[in-house]
Amino acid sequence: ALQIIRLISLPLCVVERANLPRNMIENSMFEEEPDVVDLAKDSASFPVCSYEVAYEPRSSRLLVRGLGENDMDEDEEDCESSARLLGMSFMNRSSSHRPSSSPYTRQPPPRSCSRPSARTMVVCVLFLVIVASMTMVLYFLPGCTFTKTGCKPNKTTPIEPVYPESTNGTLFPWAQLRLPQSVHPLSYDLTLNPDLDNMIFSGRTVIDMLVLHNTKRIVLHSANLNITKATFKVGFKGEYKPAQQIAVKFTEDLKAGQHCVLTLEYSAKLSHTYDGFYNSSYTDKDGNKRVLAATQFEPLSARKAFPCFDEPAFKATFLVKITRKPNYKTLSNMPKANVTALPNGLLRDEFERTSVNMSTYLVAFIVADFTPISKNVSETLVSVYSVPEKKEHTEYALDTASKLLEFYNNFFEIGYPLKKLDLVAIPDFLAGAMENWGLITFRETSLLVGKQSSSLEKQVVASVIAHELAHQWFGNLVTMSWWNDLWLNEGFATYMQYTSLQTVLPHLDIVNVCFMRFRAMEKDALNSSHAVSTEVNTPEQVEEMFDSVSYEKGASILLMLKASLPGDGQFRKGIIQYLNQFSGLNTDTNDLWNSLTQVDVSTQHQNVSEMMSSWTSQKGFPLVTVSRKGDQVTLTQEHFLLTSDNATHTSSLWNIPVTYVNDSCSLAPECRQVFTLKTKSETLRLPESVKWLKLNYRNTGFYIVHYGDEGWAALRDALSSNVSVLTHEDRASLIHNIFALSRLGRVSVRHVFNLLDYMTNETETTPVLEALLQLNNLYRLLDKRQEHTLVARMKVYILHQFGSLMNNQTWVEEESVSKQELRSALLETACGLNEENCTQQAKALFQKYVDSNGTTRIPGDLQQVVFNVAAQSDEDWPTLLNMYEHVTYDAEKRKMLRGLASTQDARRIVWILNAGLKGDIIQTQELPLVINTVCNGFAGYLFAWDFIQENWDHLIEKFPVGSFAIQTVIKSVTSQFSTQAHLYQVKGFFSSLKERGAQMRSVQEALETIRLNQRWMDKNLPTLKKWL
Ligand SMILES: [Zn+2]
Repeated sequence: ALQIIRLISLPLCVVERANLPRNMIENSMFEEEPDVVDLAKDSASFPVCSYEVAYEPRSSRLLVRGLGENDMDEDEEDCESSARLLGMSFMNRSSSHRPSSSPYTRQPPPRSCSRPSARTMVVCVLFLVIVASMTMVLYFLPGCTFTKTGCKPNKTTPIEPVYPESTNGTLFPWAQLRLPQSVHPLSYDLTLNPDLDNMIFSGRTVIDMLVLHNTKRIVLHSANLNITKATFKVGFKGEYKPAQQIAVKFTEDLKAGQHCVLTLEYSAKLSHTYDGFYNSSYTDKDGNKRVLAATQFEPLSARKAFPCFDEPAFKATFLVKITRKPNYKTLSNMPKANVTALPNGLLRDEFERTSVNMSTYLVAFIVADFTPISKNVSETLVSVYSVPEKKEHTEYALDTASKLLEFYNNFFEIGYPLKKLDLVAIPDFLAGAMENWGLITFRETSLLVGKQSSSLEKQVVASVIAHELAHQWFGNLVTMSWWNDLWLNEGFATYMQYTSLQTVLPHLDIVNVCFMRFRAMEKDALNSSHAVSTEVNTPEQVEEMFDSVSYEKGASILLMLKASLPGDGQFRKGIIQYLNQFSGLNTDTNDLWNSLTQVDVSTQHQNVSEMMSSWTSQKGFPLVTVSRKGDQVTLTQEHFLLTSDNATHTSSLWNIPVTYVNDSCSLAPECRQVFTLKTKSETLRLPESVKWLKLNYRNTGFYIVHYGDEGWAALRDALSSNVSVLTHEDRASLIHNIFALSRLGRVSVRHVFNLLDYMTNETETTPVLEALLQLNNLYRLLDKRQEHTLVARMKVYILHQFGSLMNNQTWVEEESVSKQELRSALLETACGLNEENCTQQAKALFQKYVDSNGTTRIPGDLQQVVFNVAAQSDEDWPTLLNMYEHVTYDAEKRKMLRGLASTQDARRIVWILNAGLKGDIIQTQELPLVINTVCNGFAGYLFAWDFIQENWDHLIEKFPVGSFAIQTVIKSVTSQFSTQAHLYQVKGFFSSLKERGAQMRSVQEALETIRLNQRWMDKNLPTLKKWL
C-alpha cells in the first residue's frame, strides 16, 4: 500500500489485546470448492435478474477464485445444510481431482500432503480421520449452528442476527462489516463530473455483477454519497451509515450464475481531507490559488468516490469517464481513449477499460493542470507530472523510474502490464506516495528533486519510487485477500525497495538496512504489538495495519529468510513462482510460504513454511541468550517482551536461523556459521580457545542477543583494542542490543556506557548513528524529567565521546551519501547541544545564504542543522519563516519547517501548531511533522500535549483514527513522558475519547511506553547520578 512518511526515530513502549491467530485447520474445513460457472453452457437456463438485463458473454469459461469462504450467511443457514456443506466440502477435498498447482485452487495448508513421505502420510491420514469424525459428529449433532468460529449450540430457536436500522428506518439486510460473498462485481463503468468551482461532484456507477450464491440482496459500500437514483425499481433499498454500506433487497432470490447490472447515480462534496475524491490547491508563481482534485482510496475510501464492493478481494475491471473544463487535464489508471465535447462547453475524457482485474483501492483519477515529461521504456510510456513551475524538478524521477521499471520487468520475469505509467506529484498529499495502478501519486517531497540536490535527497526519492514500482507487482498484480495480510504488500515493497536500489543505483549506498530492523523491533517488543498477519475488522484496525510491523518487520523477516536460504537465486525463484501462480488473484500469507517452499529443492534445508510461520503468526521476536561453559555453548530463546508487568510471560518459540562468527574469523561471509534454534534451548560445541562469539552476523536476523557479563566483556575488550574486528553492522547491532537489554532490565546502564567507551575510535556511519540516536533519546527523557544536573552531564558525555569526530566534519559539499548521513547526524547533535563551534559555523552559513538572497547553496545534508540553528535566534526566525513561504523547492521547504518548529520560543511554538492545523501558511499535511519536532524540544512538548487534547476532533477529521499520521502524533506527544502523573493524564484523556480513538493500539503503546520509561528511570537514575 502506501509509502508512509517516517518522522520518528525513537519509539519506546503497552496493554493486552487479543490477537487471534487464524485457525488454519478450521479455515480449510470451511472452504467450499471454488465456484466454476460455465456461462456459455448455462446462460440460457438462467433468467438474468430483471430490470436492467445485461449479459455479455465474456470468455466462455469464467473461473472465480477467492470465493472459498462461504457467503458468511451462516446466520441464515440451518444446521443441517451447514453440516452437509461441510461434509461435501470434505469429500471433494480428499478426492484429489484438483491439481494443486492450479491458480484457481487454494494451496493446501502448511504441513499437509504436498510432499508425501512416510511421516507426512501418517500425519495426513490422522488428519483426515479427525476431520471425517468431526464432520460426522456435526452432521448428526442436532441443535447447533456451525459458524466460522465453531459450533454454537442453539437455544430453542435458531439465532436471529440483529439487523441494524437503515437510514430510512427499515431494517438493513446485513449485519456485518465484511460484505457478503454472494454477488461478485465483474466490471464498473464510472462517470464522474467534478465541479471544482463549487467543490462538489456527481457520478454514475454501473456495476456488472455475477451472482455466486442464491441471495435476496446485494450489499456494497458507499460513504458520504447522496444516491439519487438506482436502477433496481423494485426491492428494498437502504443505507446503513456506520458500516458505510448500502443494500438492495429482493423478494425473490437472485440465482447463482445470474448476471445483473446495478446503476447508481449520486452526488457528493469533494472531500476536504486527504482521502476519497478530495480537493487540493496550491499557489502558482503569480500568487494565484489553483485548485485541483485527486484521489486517495487505500485502504477504505474508494466508497467515498463511487459506490462499490470496497474490499481487496473483489477485483473487477474499471472504465472511467471524467468531465472537465478545457483548461484542465485529467488522468486515470489507463491511457485516454477519447475526448467528447459536451453541449455545456465541458469536455468528457474517456479512458480505456483497465486491461487487468484490480481491487477498488487501486483506482485513481486526477483533475488538474499539471505538466508532464515522458519517456518510453520497453512497451510502457513513463511520465512524471507536477505543477507547471516545478517541471524542472521532475527529471531525476523520470530517469530513476525508467531504470527501476526495466529492472523489475527483468527481475520478476513478468512485464509491467499497462501501456503507461504516470508518477504524479500532488501539492496536498498525506502519505509519502500511493501505488495506484498506472497512476502513482506522491507527495512533492517524495518525487521532486533539483539538479543540485544532495544525493541524500535523491536517495529518499529513489527509495519511494522503488517501493511504489515494486507494488505494481506486489499488491497490484497479486493482492492480499484482506487487510490482515497487508504485510504481503508492504513488507515486500519495502524489501524490494532495498534490493532494487542496491543493484540499480549502487552509489546511493542503500546497503544499510539495520535501522529498519531496529525501529521495527522497538514497536514489536511491546505487549501491544501484533503478529505480522493478524485479524482485523473495523476501519480503525485496518488503518492501524499501516505500521512498522507490516512494513519494516515484514521486510526484515524476508531479508532474514533470503539470507538463510542456500544460494542467492533461490528466493527470487520463489517469488517469481508466487507472482506467476497468483497473477491477477488474491493471496494470504500461507500462499507465499508455500510458493517459497515448493522452490526449495535442497533436501537438508528446512521447510520455509514451518520456519516463517513462527515469524508471521505470533507477535514479537526472540531474545537469544548465550552462555559458555568450557567447550559448550548453550543458546536459549525467549520472547523479548518489554513489559512493566514482570508476571507476563509467553511461551512463544521461533524457528531462528542463528548465525555467528568468532575471533578467529569474523569479517568475511565465509566466516559465518549457521545454527537453527527451534526449541527453547540447544547446545553447540566450540573450541575453548575461542575468545569471543558474535551472533547475528551483520545483523540480518530479527532477534536480539544477550552474551552475559563475560560475553559482553570479551566483545568490549576486542573492540577497544581494534574496532575493525567486526563489521560495522555487527558493531551497530551490539549498540542497539545493549540499549534494548537495558530497557528490558537485563543489563545495567553502567554496562551500556562501558560498551560505548570503545566509540572514541569509531568512525563508521551505522554504529555512530545508532549510538547518537539512543543517547539523544535518553537525553530527551532526562530533559523532560527536568533532571538538570544529569542533562548537563549527559551533554558533556556526548560531546566528549564524539567531539573529535564532530570537529572533523567539514561544512562544504560532500559526495558520499554515507558521509553525508554521518555528518548531518553529528552536527545536528552538536548544534542541538549548543556546541559553540558548530553553532558558529551554522550561523555563518545561514548569514551567507540570506545575504546572497538564497542564491548561494547550503549543502543539502547541512540545511537542516543550519535552519535549526537559525530558528533559535530571535531575528532569524522571521527571516526563515519568510523564506519558507516563498521557497519552491520542497525538500528544502520541509527542512525550513522543521527548523521553524524547533524554536524554543513558547509563543512561536503555539503559533506554529495552530498554523499547521489551519492549513494556509503551513499545509495541514505537515502537522504530524510539526508536532513531532515541537515535542523533541523542552519548551514545546507540554504545549503539544495540550494542543492535541484541545483539538482532537479537528485532528481526526483530517487524519483518520488509526492512520499513520495519528499514530505518529500520539507517539510524538506521549513517548517522552516518564512519570505517574503523566501516565494518569494520558490514560484519562484517551479513555474519554471512547469511539473517537480510545481503542487504538497506539494508545496502548503510549501507556506501555510511559510505564517502561518510568520503570527505567526508577531503576537507573541513581546509577546515572553516581556514574555520569
Ligand atoms: Zn507501500
